[in-house]
Amino acid sequence: MKISFLGLGAIGTPMAVHVAKQHQLTVWNRTRARAEAFAAAHPAAVAATPREAAAGAEVIITCLPKSSDVEGLLDGPDGLLAGMAPGTLFLDCTSGDPDTTRKIGARLAALGVEFVDAPVSGGTNGAEAGTLTVMVGGTEAQFRRALPILECFGRRVEHMGPLGAGHAMKAVNNALLAVNLFAVGEGLTALVKSGISAQKAVEVLNASSGRSFVSEYLVPERVLTRLWPVTFRLALLDKDAGIAADFLAGQEVEGPVLRLTSELLAKAHAALGEDADYLEPIRLCEEQAGVELRG
Ligand code: NDP
Repeated sequence: MKISFLGLGAIGTPMAVHVAKQHQLTVWNRTRARAEAFAAAHPAAVAATPREAAAGAEVIITCLPKSSDVEGLLDGPDGLLAGMAPGTLFLDCTSGDPDTTRKIGARLAALGVEFVDAPVSGGTNGAEAGTLTVMVGGTEAQFRRALPILECFGRRVEHMGPLGAGHAMKAVNNALLAVNLFAVGEGLTALVKSGISAQKAVEVLNASSGRSFVSEYLVPERVLTRLWPVTFRLALLDKDAGIAADFLAGQEVEGPVLRLTSELLAKAHAALGEDADYLEPIRLCEEQAGVELRG
């Protein structure tokens, strides 16, 4: 199948690698050098513009920071709309927002293009392994059409509901991750300050009922080792928590915990900058407590 992938960032790149193994792939990236480096290492053609990527593609996949970035690729002489044909399946793997997604979907439906939200979870490790969870929003027929393509990089591909439901699910998931991140940072730094070893605290937590993805995987791998790799930018988690807070408000759910988490993330993002990793709020907990979580 002819597939075009737009957005070769930290997670888009390993996802596109899996697509290239099974399909005739074209890639486009805003910074062209990244697309060229990809095509030098994997079987793929490089498109010069979104329009060129869309021309002749049966399926288009985007993986950009925000829904407004996806919207920004649609128009103009070099935009996706100028190249897309009716019948195209457009899979948006961006962790986007449901409202913008429904707006884009309505525009594309009028042109006979099927727009489906398909955000992913599992991090860059999961993308490399091809074991991502994919949360799909669209009709049942669109889901069935999208499934074999999403299975290139997804192990669990779930239909969540109509267009936008995938993005709502993803935003809530990431907001819960963020809640846990702050809570683990606060709890562990207090324990270490009281004289308990960080290593022992994490081990006991992980054999107890307060354990989580953050405590079981992220803290041992990245914090106790002091490696702090950048795999998912804090700016993106901040965006996700904001989407979740808006989603809760739209459902008339008060959500004080998620609202506070969104505020804390915005502050951490402002303090740590655009390139900080999403685990770095734990550094702020360390600074505030005056201790380090070392293994
Ligand atoms: P990165 O910041 O690593 O990459 C962003 C990509 O989008 C780059 O290819 C960048 O191009 C491109 N881009 C940025 N702005 C624009 C724009 N206005 N127009 C066109 N292209 C643009 O992000 P990730 O790959 O980490 O994340 C992509 C999406 O996946 C996000 O929605 C994120 O929340 C989600 N996600 C990320 C995960 C992760 O572990 N990293 C996990 C799960 C979901 P350029 O090369 O020119 O900068």
